Amino acid sequence: MRSLLFFCLGQVVHGFGRGSKQLDIPTANFPEQVLDSLPADISTGIYSGWASVRSGAIHKMVSIGWNPYYKNVTKSMEIHIIHTFKEDFHGEILNVAIVGYLISEKNFDSLESLISAIQGDSEEAKKKLDLPEHLKLKDDNFFQVSKSKIMNCH
Ligand code: ADP
Ligand code: MG
Repeated sequence: MRSLLFFCLGQVVHGFGRGSKQLDIPTANFPEQVLDSLPADISTGIYSGWASVRSGAIHKMVSIGWNPYYKNVTKSMEIHIIHTFKEDFHGEILNVAIVGYLISEKNFDSLESLISAIQGDSEEAKKKLDLPEHLKLKDDNFFQVSKSKIMNCH
């Protein structure tokens, strides 16, 4: 897993409403303003990292970039947190540390193959995030910040 590090902070907005929740992979979305602060040339694909909602517990996550399967034309980041939440958290502050680049995004020929790929990538992310150098990021000061007026990735 190639290492890189971005910290993104923002308020969760509604995504494309594709019903990813019905497929058991709900994905939280950041506002465009937050995504615009990422480098324009960041590789598309699947990243692993840590996420915390409303300064709560820090969970593992996988983030999916641009989505060629859906022929997106705008930038998107879909953050699937590997945790079962009791309630939705649209409008809440989300802290995300993007830790590693797992795999480039392929153009899937079916929804089934897209879903099984994401499930496989989640397993991979879970294992890799347990490495000491990734685990220690949970203690980063960034996760103490939840009320910053600056909503961005840095
Ligand atoms: P949307 O189009 O609003 O993004 P989704 O079907 O992708 O719809 O669901 C995402 C929403 O589900 C998130 O904004 C969040 O409020 C909620 N949610 C519940 N559990 C999770 C989870 N484990 N990971 C990400 N989002 C979750
Ligand atoms: Mg979504």
